Amino acid sequence: MGTTDLTYDVVVAGGGIAGISAAVKAGRLGVKTLLIEQYGFTGGSATAGMVSPFMKHTVHGIPLTNGIFSDIEQGMRKRHGMIDNGFSGIAFRLSAFELLNDAGVHILPNALLIDAVMDNNELKHIKVLYDQKEITVYGNMFIDTTGDAQLVYLAGLPYEKGEEGRMQAMTLFFRMGNINIPDALKYITENPQNFFNWMDYNFNPDKIISVGGYFSFVKKAHLENRLSENVRYIFFTTLPSSGEASFNTSNILELDGTSSSDMTRAEMEGRKQVADVVRILQKEIPGFRHAYLIETASQVGVRETRRIVGDYCLTGEDVLEGRKFHDAIARACYGIDIHGAKGEKDRMDELKEGDYYTIPYRSLIHKNAVNILSAGRSLSSTREGHAAIRIMPTAAATGEAAGAAAAFAVKNTVPLRNISYAELLPLIRHNVEFGD
Ligand SMILES: Cc1cc2nc3c(=O)[nH]c(=O)nc-3n(C[C@H](O)[C@H](O)[C@H](O)COP(=O)(O)OP(=O)(O)OC[C@H]3O[C@@H](n4cnc5c(N)ncnc54)[C@H](O)[C@@H]3O)c2cc1C
Repeated sequence: MGTTDLTYDVVVAGGGIAGISAAVKAGRLGVKTLLIEQYGFTGGSATAGMVSPFMKHTVHGIPLTNGIFSDIEQGMRKRHGMIDNGFSGIAFRLSAFELLNDAGVHILPNALLIDAVMDNNELKHIKVLYDQKEITVYGNMFIDTTGDAQLVYLAGLPYEKGEEGRMQAMTLFFRMGNINIPDALKYITENPQNFFNWMDYNFNPDKIISVGGYFSFVKKAHLENRLSENVRYIFFTTLPSSGEASFNTSNILELDGTSSSDMTRAEMEGRKQVADVVRILQKEIPGFRHAYLIETASQVGVRETRRIVGDYCLTGEDVLEGRKFHDAIARACYGIDIHGAKGEKDRMDELKEGDYYTIPYRSLIHKNAVNILSAGRSLSSTREGHAAIRIMPTAAATGEAAGAAAAFAVKNTVPLRNISYAELLPLIRHNVEFGD
């Protein structure tokens, strides 16, 4: 195995929506930026996990997240890959790739982060496995957007994982085609008792609709031992005119998304659940008789693993009380959404309609390091805080802020903690102030 050295101003580890946003921002601000990603493409949960649509991020119709998130959206819309708030993985990949290229970011795909070496409280370099070589990457600033706080873990720094051993359920997404959607919607409309009561029956052909329930079919399959008891309902989103739907239905419990052996078990369990649900749909459920499985996601979707321990830890109370921080770098209105672990009830606590909370800059900075930021689902929060900030629009906004802070620190040779908020604000104003 040979070795190579690389040196960058800003090194972003993990190319999900948070990492893309961080790298694009740093690149646009003119610093030499590297984005490292283990897959051959970026997007993380949004592409490999097939997660769509973007969760709610507007108050009174006004978006709370703009900036690079909007640029990603625009890139997908111009490719006809995004309708309403739903999008296709390939459109996401192309849009992100274009933004990264235009920002001059160097992308290192197929590269696995394997080590992080600290000198006191400064991260000196990381190691990456690429092309059968161990590459040492030096940087001034490092941003951990691995979703799993993998960089922080490898650096031996403090982190939190779930709570008391509990982590949210995982889901293997899948997509079906050739659904007779009018027949499916007819059954749904005539049998509301078989569905969740949050369902909206005013189906608009131009808007994504969400369907959740089919409780009687699921119950029957449980009684006849044809479906895991962990699958509690069938949930999909579709455009009424499309014939296709994306299913967020499998429910994989008691496994740890940072463990390879657990992820292997999750893949096996996920595939079995998907096959069983597809069989039930095709054999029993109106509208699905001629439908077929198009694809499952490349990876099981992991909702919750590690979180960094930062200068500030965002709490569930901050979220539900709509707290506005003096050093806000992002805004969000999504509540606490916990897909329960084994024996734990699902939970969805919403904010008051029209209210929102902010995320402080301090929650991006690792408390024991001078040059490590984290953004996306691994920023510093409690389990409840995490359950709110983990959605894609918020991950993009926190990523953009981390990229802005890292680039500012490099360009002005100022430590992360000495950046004045007045100087950071102009770089992220569109994500924290109205009327901009
Ligand atoms: C089943 C499920 C349903 C969801 N539903 C929605 C929804 O409907 N709407 C919504 O807005 N949000 C939803 N979410 C939440 C949202 O998708 C994620 O929380 C968000 O996309 C996380 O973005 P991220 O960039 O922080 O992390 P990720 O998307 O996880 O990206 C992390 C990236 O880092 C890379 N990486 C990790 N370790 C290494 C390493 N060692 N070396 C190199 N690269 C590495 C990964 O390959 C990945 O690309 C859902 C999540 C799941 C799992």
